[in-house]
Formats: sequence, C-alpha cells, structure tokens
Amino acid sequence: MVYRFRCQHCSFVVWSASKDALVDAVGSHVLDHHRQRVTKHDFRLRWDCPYCESTGQYHGLDDGIEKLKRHLLDHVTSLVESGVHVTDNIDGTGNVLVRSPHGSAASDNARVHLLSPGDIVVFVTTAPDERLRLLHDELREWPAQTVIVTTKSDVLENVSGIDSSEMPLELVQLDGRLGLSGLGETLSRVIKEYEAAAGRIAVEFDILSELIEKFDLRTVFKLLHVLGQRAKRADALAHYHIDSRARSESTINILGKAFDLSVRARGQRFVSESPPGTG
Ligand SMILES: [Zn+2]
Ligand SMILES: [Zn+2]
Repeated sequence: MVYRFRCQHCSFVVWSASKDALVDAVGSHVLDHHRQRVTKHDFRLRWDCPYCESTGQYHGLDDGIEKLKRHLLDHVTSLVESGVHVTDNIDGTGNVLVRSPHGSAASDNARVHLLSPGDIVVFVTTAPDERLRLLHDELREWPAQTVIVTTKSDVLENVSGIDSSEMPLELVQLDGRLGLSGLGETLSRVIKEYEAAAGRIAVEFDILSELIEKFDLRTVFKLLHVLGQRAKRADALAHYHIDSRARSESTINILGKAFDLSVRARGQRFVSESPPGTG
C-alpha cells in the first residue's frame, strides 16, 4: 500500500509506503508554508492557525513549533490518499527520472516500486548481479520475463546463492563501443519482442550518468525522447536513475523535458516538487 499527499498550495507531492514517514514529511512541508504564523516575543512563541481560530502560546520554542506542526497536520491529513502508485498521474507509462544517492536503500526502494507493475522487466545496467539479487530478495516471485541488457559478460556466474534456472531470463550483450543510436535500436528491438506478450513492460535504465559523461547532451536528449515515446506506444514504463550527489545532477535539468515525471527518492519516500518537464 502506497500513500500520497498533494499540497494544496504548491506542486509538492510526496508518496510513501510508510504512513508515518509520509505524515512526517507532510508536517514539515505544511509548516514551511505557515512559518510567518509564528512570532517570538519575550522568550515566548506564539502562533495562530491559518485554517481555524486556534492560537498557541509556549515557553519552549521547539515545543511550540512541534505543537503547531501537529495542529496543522490535523487539518490536512484527510488529504492523504491511499492505494496509489507514483506513476498514476502519467497512466503508468512513459519516462520517469529518479534522483537518489547511488547505492542507497532509497534507490532500491524506488526500483522495487517502479518495477513492480511490470510483468516483463528489462534492465539496462552495468550491475546485473545486483539487480537480480534485488528481484530475488524483494519480489515474491520472478517476473514472467526478465531481460538484462549489459556490457558485462558472465552475468550469471557472479550471482551466488540464487537459483536462476527457474527464471525466464534473456541476456542481451551490448558492445561497449556501441553508439547511442545502436543502444536505442537494441532497446527498441527488446520492447518490440515483448510488446505483444501478455503483461506490462517495465524498464530500468541505470546508465544515464555514463551516457551524459560520454555523449553530447542533445544526442542523449534525443535518445531519451525516442525511448519515452516508444515506451508510451508499448504501454510501458521506463525509469532512469541518476545519482543525486553526482555532478551530472545539475546537467540533468537540461534534460528535464525528456521525462514525464521526476522524483527524488529519500529514505522510504518519493518527493516531486516541480511539474513534469521543468526538471
Ligand atoms: Zn506546498
Ligand atoms: Zn487550526
């Protein structure tokens, strides 16, 4: 079960499978909108509620702020929706950008959430062993089909302790010298191969940072645009990971319009602060 809160005052949206984690983020966000309601006078803190007649007066500053946060939450928790998916607003198709610290629990959480609607799971990755490990640990059963597109060889030899013999798996070996159009064609071919099959396709694209370092931005933008259109036609969802601590993070703003949705993964939460296409 995933919960969602959409702010009524701005474009902030937060999702989480943990209601506590969600409510915590909502409290801080709503409080930020109403900081001007707090005044300090003679070591005392006073606030008045923007929604009702309530006021509060406290000797402890932190205590007063916390009370206001709790009070504001009472007004807005009815806006929390449940049983949603991050991609509901885009009909579960197209391109989603995920910013999170590389190798974090937050990025794995995003992977699981964005792959889980897929029956056919496609990875474009340099870490196929880690992705198979994640599927094994987090999903109750193997997807109907898993496709790994990678430059790595001997993929299965590096995955210890997992019996992949029962797993429907296609390995697509990429030539590391392949240009962007070659990569695009390969992915398009993979999507075509499974487009007519029963179930939905979910693509995880891990190598966006590498592409940004290696190729010029216009060509990368074109590839992303084409892949997004291709995904929509196939009713598929593609998501792209970028390290929120990497230098390419600022560059990625230029690519904003290539994505239908952009979220930050933090802990157990996803946050979207700007409408699609503005980064
Ligand atoms: Zn807001
Ligand atoms: Zn109130």
